[in-house]
Amino acid sequence: MEESKFSEEVIEQIKDIIPWGLSDENNLLIDKLILNDNLKTRYKTYGLCRECYQPNTSCDTSDFGYVYWCQSCNATRFEQDFKNWTSGDHHVDELVQKSQLKAKNYKEVIEWYNYQFEDVKTLIKDKSGITYTASWYGDLCMLEWDYVRNSWKRYNPGRVILRYLHDEPDNPVEFLKKVESRIAMNDIIQRCWDADPSNRPNANELYSLLYKFGFDAFFVQSSLAYRQVLEAYKINSSSFTGIKDIKLHPQAVYTSKLLTFKDLPNPQNADVDQI
Ligand SMILES: [Zn+2]
Repeated sequence: MEESKFSEEVIEQIKDIIPWGLSDENNLLIDKLILNDNLKTRYKTYGLCRECYQPNTSCDTSDFGYVYWCQSCNATRFEQDFKNWTSGDHHVDELVQKSQLKAKNYKEVIEWYNYQFEDVKTLIKDKSGITYTASWYGDLCMLEWDYVRNSWKRYNPGRVILRYLHDEPDNPVEFLKKVESRIAMNDIIQRCWDADPSNRPNANELYSLLYKFGFDAFFVQSSLAYRQVLEAYKINSSSFTGIKDIKLHPQAVYTSKLLTFKDLPNPQNADVDQI
């Protein structure tokens, strides 16, 4: 059976090794001990969680230095805290809880805040609500777990966007669905362009991930995706006249071939915020 986490024996041998800048001897040891490529890449890229000693699920660069995240440990922490907060709306609670259990890095976490903001200014009003900008004087956004203080490290994001939804019965649910789809799609996109091909979803996985979006788009009439597809269909059928007189060039035969370059640097993911 393929290993999906490090065994006690492996942890015992690697927990004191710093995975970055490994000596040849340690490199050989790691290759011998960790056979699963995915675990090995995670260990070498994100390091070990200081709590469970499994490889972290992310290590992001931020204005505050490197930010490490262990999905499993943080999900447990969040779950234990579920009883201590509620938004008062079970749809909102469900969405927030789901994002906290699934988050593989600090950018994917949603939290319920009951805070007061300062210097609130109206940005735009539309039929479904009002968007404001505002400031929060204090540390607001979650960064990572602080093992010394036993609490979350947070930072102040500066100006933030607030969205007030008019009190229409379906509105919050529809809005949350949009947020949820956006998060899921963002996750798929990031995995698809990962520099390491072994981290990208395979065709079967991609199919099942996109199936839900496709299902909503064609069968769930109340969904945003359904309305967008319908609108696109109407536009296409009214303006698309078809392509006529296509001629193929007799020599236009394209094939692919593998190019071999020596000494290319290892591919590395760009920081999404800098793209
Ligand atoms: Zn952990």
